[in-house]
Amino acid sequence: MIKFLLFILLTSTSLFSADAGKYLSPFIRVAIITEAKSLSLKTSGNIHVYDLKSNQKYMLLANSQYEISAREEKNIRVAGQNLYSPIKLISPDGEERIIIGGHTYRGEIILHSSGEENLIIVENIPLEDYISGVLSFEMSPTWPIEALKAQAVASRTFALENLQPNKLFDITAGVERQVYKGQQKVNSKITEAINSTKGEILTYKGKPFKTYFHSCCGGHTANNRIAWQGTDLEPLKGVKDPYCQNSKHYSWNLYISTKDLLTFIQKQGSTALRIRGMHILKKSHSGRIIEIKFSTDKESFTVKAYDIRKYFGEADFKSTFITKISKQNHGYKIYGRGWGHGVGMCQEGAKSMAHRGMSYKKILRHYYPHSKLSNMAELK
Ligand SMILES: [Zn+2]
Repeated sequence: MIKFLLFILLTSTSLFSADAGKYLSPFIRVAIITEAKSLSLKTSGNIHVYDLKSNQKYMLLANSQYEISAREEKNIRVAGQNLYSPIKLISPDGEERIIIGGHTYRGEIILHSSGEENLIIVENIPLEDYISGVLSFEMSPTWPIEALKAQAVASRTFALENLQPNKLFDITAGVERQVYKGQQKVNSKITEAINSTKGEILTYKGKPFKTYFHSCCGGHTANNRIAWQGTDLEPLKGVKDPYCQNSKHYSWNLYISTKDLLTFIQKQGSTALRIRGMHILKKSHSGRIIEIKFSTDKESFTVKAYDIRKYFGEADFKSTFITKISKQNHGYKIYGRGWGHGVGMCQEGAKSMAHRGMSYKKILRHYYPHSKLSNMAELK
């Protein structure tokens, strides 16, 4: 369990600067931390702590340090008091900045005890503010504006599809969803991309859908159904992509020793003691590999490309778009293309399209064919 340091600083500038105008942004609850035993809370102004079940309000004084920890039976201990989970931290003067683990957050903070001496820290934030934080990490703030706008629409739609009112939070903040680390990298270009697409989402047959995106497709995006047994959906069937060829992620290679491959297939259930060969067995329409076959001293053994990528690490084994496997010394060299799962928008391709003068609408039409640009205000 990690111990996190949490600061609340009062500032005079309004942090809800993105003027919502006529369009009212819904809120999203982002789990910033899902596993923490305790928090050190430092205050620079007075902080109100609300016990939401009993409706009790407690005051924490400015310029002090408090320990917050999870207790059994859904209690949270704050400054020696046992409170019911969840509790809410609010600065009575408003406009607080909250810093957790070095990242700045602007929403209200809700702490849940998950009952096993574990704190879940959730930020409740307007969707548009959340998207601006996502954009600065999912794409570089230095990327061309039309690519940032395309990402804004994709991220907004994806977030909307993740709202889960019956759960403790809607979305986690890691790479398994959309990377979110608060607001510190948000610049004027990001704000422009958010404001100029305010409320815009993608729909298919009148409904928003999971607008997946990834770093680089390697020349063809993947089919949602084949990549992870997702739903068969026209905008996520996969398209040819001529735009990401110059990306540094377009091609990669990785050496894996026979010893490590043997350990992997044994963990998958093989009784083999020696590997004699490694071959591509089954390819999808996009060119991605579905299955890989190992010939061994015992039976031949088939594994899913998805599982082998996960086992050896998605940062090194960059995709399942394997083009060649060759025997080398005491192992195999795997050659591949692209980085990521490959479903939906290819960010490197979007960047290149924007550099060539194409609009965000054209980028979205290319990567999510048959989808429609709609506004959240039109949804029931
Ligand atoms: Zn691509």
